[in-house]
Amino acid sequence: MDLPTLDDLAVGGERVLVRADLNVPLEEGSVADDFRIRASVPTIAELRRRGARVVVCSHLGRPEGRDPAFGLAPVSARLGELGGFPTVQAPAVVGSEAAACVEGAPAGTVVVLENTRFEPGETRNDPELAAGLAALADRFVNDAFGTAHRAHASTVGVAERLPSAAGRLMEAEIGAFSRLLENPARPYVVVLGGAKVSDKLGVMRRLLPLVDLMLVGGGMCFTLLAAGGYEVGGSLVEESRLAEVRALLEGEDGAKLLLPDDLVVADRFAPDAARRIVAATRIPAGWIGLDIGPATIERFASVITRAESVFWNGPMGVFEWDRFRAGTAGIAAAVAACPGYTVVGGGDSVAALRRLGREGTVNHLSSGGGAGLAMLEGRELPALRALERWRR
Ligand code: ADP
Ligand code: MG
Repeated sequence: MDLPTLDDLAVGGERVLVRADLNVPLEEGSVADDFRIRASVPTIAELRRRGARVVVCSHLGRPEGRDPAFGLAPVSARLGELGGFPTVQAPAVVGSEAAACVEGAPAGTVVVLENTRFEPGETRNDPELAAGLAALADRFVNDAFGTAHRAHASTVGVAERLPSAAGRLMEAEIGAFSRLLENPARPYVVVLGGAKVSDKLGVMRRLLPLVDLMLVGGGMCFTLLAAGGYEVGGSLVEESRLAEVRALLEGEDGAKLLLPDDLVVADRFAPDAARRIVAATRIPAGWIGLDIGPATIERFASVITRAESVFWNGPMGVFEWDRFRAGTAGIAAAVAACPGYTVVGGGDSVAALRRLGREGTVNHLSSGGGAGLAMLEGRELPALRALERWRR
């Protein structure tokens, strides 16, 4: 993909609006995980260094209108700490108060606008909101890969109104996914897990012909096992997807799909449930599969450590509960040990990796879940499309 970057944009003395992805989890009003804020610092710092007057915007959560619980103040404070520059929190997204804040900010101070989803026009890409954002700046930089698959006012609308470029994080994300799509080093292994097979069917269909092996665990593997005719007890199954899944299993590349040999099953969906390890073909009635078993970990790990390219999305089990974390931990260890090119994407997958202390062990940790999958599916990302028009 040939997008304009910060190298193509004159920014000295200009007001530059940066769309970052600062959508972090909050706990009791403070930032619980600052991974996305950290990842947004390099672009903002570079623009500041080059003499731009930086204005940052982002969404945070899914507020219903102006809900103070979703205000960006804790995020802008953390951004300042991590970046080592002063920040000021604007009281609004657009309008005279936001404009006064931008105009009044001392040189070198980064202005953070309020949560873009406080404005109902954000998610429907309302032209008036886009014009309001564009009025606050002279240039636009999109660094929010995590929302690139959505056509919102702060991702698409504003890029149509100001000379625009992709930020450094956006560049890195696109580079990583392009490397997986265009001539990946082989063997190329994709590991999929997570809750729902319906989220991943598109990417399975598209990637199966391209990969050497696709390893499947997590909640989604039970729909595959069920489609193969096995009893899966009380495990998660998406009945409405059985036909599509069966077509994949029986299709030309079906043999590339590797399913678990054994599983950790629980007598109920609870952190302290009773646990058993059973063959994937013998899940007892009423028991629920919550993790892959030790034989599966070993088999998946031996495939992963010998791969030259690995993409992993979706935890192998309910890693939030320590009794069902071994599968995810085992795969994380194998990905860390893999000498090839490794990419991990997905909100929960990245959170799991960080929790396991392994975030430094992969080549690229993607901040975008849905956007990464959309890119791998070959879908057009509207926010990138909007930047393309500014290519020189
Ligand atoms: P990501 O955010 O990395 O894309 P998903 O959102 O697809 O991942 O899935 C993550 C969720 O899947 C986790 O909350 C995890 O508890 C859940 N999960 C994993 N395995 C199972 C399972 N066997 N049964 C139910 N839920 C599962
Ligand atoms: Mg998730």
